[in-house]
Amino acid sequence: MNDIILLKLGELVLKGLNRHNFEDKLMSNARRRLHTYGQFKVTTKQSITYVEPQSDDCDMDGAFEAMKKVFGAVGVCRCRACEKDKDAMLCAVKEFLAPQLAAARTFKVECKRSDKTFPLNSIQLAQYLGGELDEAYPHLTAEMHHPDLTVYVEVRDDAAFVHGNTEPGAGGLPVGMGGRAVSLLSGGIDSPVASWMMAKRGLCLEMVHFFSYPYTSEEAKQKVLDLAKLLTPWTGRLVVHVVPFTAIQEELRRSCPEEYFTILMRRFMMRISAEVARRTGSGALITGESLGQVASQTMEAMLCTGAVVDIPVFRPVIGMDKEEIVRISRKIGTFETSILPYEDCCTVFTPKHPKLKPTLKECEAAEAKLDVEGLVKAAADGIERVQIGVEQG
Ligand code: ATP
Ligand code: MG
Repeated sequence: MNDIILLKLGELVLKGLNRHNFEDKLMSNARRRLHTYGQFKVTTKQSITYVEPQSDDCDMDGAFEAMKKVFGAVGVCRCRACEKDKDAMLCAVKEFLAPQLAAARTFKVECKRSDKTFPLNSIQLAQYLGGELDEAYPHLTAEMHHPDLTVYVEVRDDAAFVHGNTEPGAGGLPVGMGGRAVSLLSGGIDSPVASWMMAKRGLCLEMVHFFSYPYTSEEAKQKVLDLAKLLTPWTGRLVVHVVPFTAIQEELRRSCPEEYFTILMRRFMMRISAEVARRTGSGALITGESLGQVASQTMEAMLCTGAVVDIPVFRPVIGMDKEEIVRISRKIGTFETSILPYEDCCTVFTPKHPKLKPTLKECEAAEAKLDVEGLVKAAADGIERVQIGVEQG
């Protein structure tokens, strides 16, 4: 018989209809993430999702790693299936949990019997297994409150399952549960982290990248596509909308005061992203802005950039220090790619003295001569859609 994987669902406060949406989304996301690892059956019962391989050639290690990146599960563990016989269970515990039993000093056994025809009830079974383990491992002491190791045994209709402590899951809400949003992805450290944080809150992402060829290189674009790829174990498949941005930047350089260049460029990024949101049925924008990190990330600048769109702008790293953002970026695996030294479209045209506290009136005056709508439409119509499949572990 095969091992199976259990996912413990998070956000237990969710009730009623929401609970169903949560479970259904989590199961469909898990199924989609699993099919490169073999055939699995995915079901949910009482806040636990069961991932069961349907053949012997399933890649259980790969599936387990993939399940640790599915948002919505707070804990993930592997269990061993065995016969519904108390000695077979004891044997499975000793074999399957050997390293944990050797490392622990204190333990307890918790049993659950969903097959009510099994002759021992949960308490009797736990007492039997606990007593046997206590005897077999002299270094172990039973401890009911905070044991190093909890041995779980569940007697179900088709088999019994044994597992130890769970590993942390990705937490958050299943991707897609909160709708769709457009994330502005540069090649930096912050925007991949911001994207990951909002996917964690249940958003399905559309990525937008502004590309200023030939001022920025093909390598710089490839770096952004690589970053998107690194996010896919969490987000699922992605589309990166690569926006040709050079014409707008050249137009701004030609017709607008230099000190407003950065803020005006950002206003165009927001407008075009909002257009992508409209075309993809997305309800919000996401950026990696952090208050005060650079001149363009002040309250005043955010007022000016937010003013050109009529959907919410989420900035999940707004209150975070660089070190905190870096810590997440290392954890999710984007850091090493983010620090590769390719230029970003913003750095190419950086003014010598950017306006620190631009006002909305000044921005509007500086843009007065531009055909804003025409520029936005031309850029949006020139978008190249790049499909990114899920990265295999
Ligand atoms: P990051 O590390 O995410 O690049 P940053 O600290 O370098 O951020 P800025 O370059 O000021 O900050 O960009 C602020 C935000 O604007 C980015 O986090 C990103 O969401 C968006 N952005 C900047 N440049 C681009 C781009 N070329 N394409 C898409 N979005 C961009
Ligand atoms: Mg940047």
